[in-house]
Amino acid sequence: MHEFELINRVFRAADYARPGHAVERSIGDDCALINLPVGHQLCVSTDSVLAGVHFPFPCDPFLLGQRALAVAVSDLAASGARPLAFTLALTLPEPELAWLQSFSSGLAHMAGLCGITLAGGDTTRGPLNIGITVMGSVPAGQALLRSGARAGDMLCVSGPLGAAAAALPLFAAESVATSVQVREQLLQAFWQPMPQLALGQWLRGRAGAVIDVSDGLLADAGLIAAESGVQLQIERARDPVAAAARQMDAGQAMARALSGGDDYQLLFTLAAEHWPALQQAFPEVVCIGCVGEGQGVVLLDEAGQRLTTEIGGYRHF
Ligand code: ADP
Ligand code: MG
Repeated sequence: MHEFELINRVFRAADYARPGHAVERSIGDDCALINLPVGHQLCVSTDSVLAGVHFPFPCDPFLLGQRALAVAVSDLAASGARPLAFTLALTLPEPELAWLQSFSSGLAHMAGLCGITLAGGDTTRGPLNIGITVMGSVPAGQALLRSGARAGDMLCVSGPLGAAAAALPLFAAESVATSVQVREQLLQAFWQPMPQLALGQWLRGRAGAVIDVSDGLLADAGLIAAESGVQLQIERARDPVAAAARQMDAGQAMARALSGGDDYQLLFTLAAEHWPALQQAFPEVVCIGCVGEGQGVVLLDEAGQRLTTEIGGYRHF
């Protein structure tokens, strides 16, 4: 199939690529045209996902499309942005129509959940690689940053950690003994992380610093600490370890909740005055520690003693 025919059939014809709202022109021109609300700034972020690095291959193309978009949109959530549009840079070994249609259905599903439109992209031949650039809008000056943490703030996380990392052994050749139910929960955590868009937007004007947990709690906390010039103190006992991760492997669950990536929860700092309203609006948020003066990340045990830790987390280089 010809490249343009493929783009037209799979992407241009799809509902989630139809112009409307902020996207005035999408696929078919040299550039997409996006209208930004008056007084707003454009928030932009790019993520690449590679076969064998970010996902097991071969895999279900629907799940792949769903996850690739979720991971990218999560950065908009962490910035407090409202999603507008995304572009898709797709490198494929072979243009297989059935595979692409399923992949596109996965993108469509997540695009619907997030309220984001496919505005354009690029299609090339090579080893499977998916590059997604997301765009969102944020009232001028109100984007959430990693640099706003202040000593005395609370440190919070939006929900359970460690489930996506616990799914990884399920992709390995050896079988893992666990119940069907636990297996499903772990695979769902990996393949369908939900960008915390509503929380991100609620945090505008309230949170100090925000980040989405993609590389592991300790590693990503370290990035807030470095950008803000503060020390983050995490109480291990308050870490919200995902129940399914415990059920699969109790011995590894805490390590996965501290250092495993791919959960896409939001980690943020907040002045205590906002805590009651936050709990009301987002009851699944938990406080896991606080911001102090100093630098780096400190992990405290149940007695308040410092634990020496290997921060871990995923690094490409
Ligand atoms: P150009 O050669 O001008 O860069 P292309 O031939 O790459 O244009 O793309 C033609 C149109 O199809 C453009 O509007 C582009 O945004 C869109 N497009 C190409 N590949 C994709 C894709 N994978 N997903 C969505 N839109 C795409
Ligand atoms: Mg062009």
